[in-house]
Amino acid sequence: MRILIFGPPGSGKGTRARLISRLLKIPVITTGDMLRDEVSRGTEIGLKAKEYMDRGELVPDELVIRLVEERLHRPDCSGGFILDGFPRNLRQAEALDRILGEMGMELDLVLNVVVDPEIVVERLSLRRWCPKCGAIYNLKYDPPKVDEICDECGARLIQRSDDREEVVRRRLRVYEEQTKPVLELYIERGLVREIRGDIPIEEIPREVEEVLKPYLERD
Ligand code: ADP
Ligand code: ZN
Repeated sequence: MRILIFGPPGSGKGTRARLISRLLKIPVITTGDMLRDEVSRGTEIGLKAKEYMDRGELVPDELVIRLVEERLHRPDCSGGFILDGFPRNLRQAEALDRILGEMGMELDLVLNVVVDPEIVVERLSLRRWCPKCGAIYNLKYDPPKVDEICDECGARLIQRSDDREEVVRRRLRVYEEQTKPVLELYIERGLVREIRGDIPIEEIPREVEEVLKPYLERD
């Protein structure tokens, strides 16, 4: 299956994307993680991306499109993938149409994680992230077993520098202005299914399985 996942910052789309990736055994391509990795390695892309990310703005399209295009051509994507964080504006959506068209692929499903904007600022202030494997935690709702340490790989968790309140508000605005129109486009194409971002953590797997069920049975 080829899936896109949408949702504002703090909606829990990353957690759901990783769950779906395990469930369907397809890779999750998270542009935010890819960019953070470029930043921490100090690559040319990373150096350019950092200033935008620190402000909560979108990194220039050419950079992100190049990263995604290269990633989608790797062999592990041939059996499907889930894209988290891309496309984020209409130009990126056009680029994705072109890339998939050239590869003879089509999208199967677009998931939209719906959440009340009021709760995301609190959520993001409690979010911790594993810079090594990308696992996501919430200090209140989904804490790691050992303080500050990733359950999955043992690395030390960090708080993302763009999870500060003023940057979060900017990211939410960017989402409303630039990413919502992309969602409209996929709604017109009949690809969008909604999932709720505000349910208790232990109910997430069941909801995700429920929405994927028709597609799993079809295959
Ligand atoms: P969130 O969805 O919680 O805001 P992400 O990890 O998806 O966080 O993205 C963090 C930052 O990385 C964004 O604010 C933006 O600067 C950059 N970024 C990620 N994906 C893209 C993209 N597709 N296009 C441009 N910038 C991106
Ligand atoms: Zn980890």
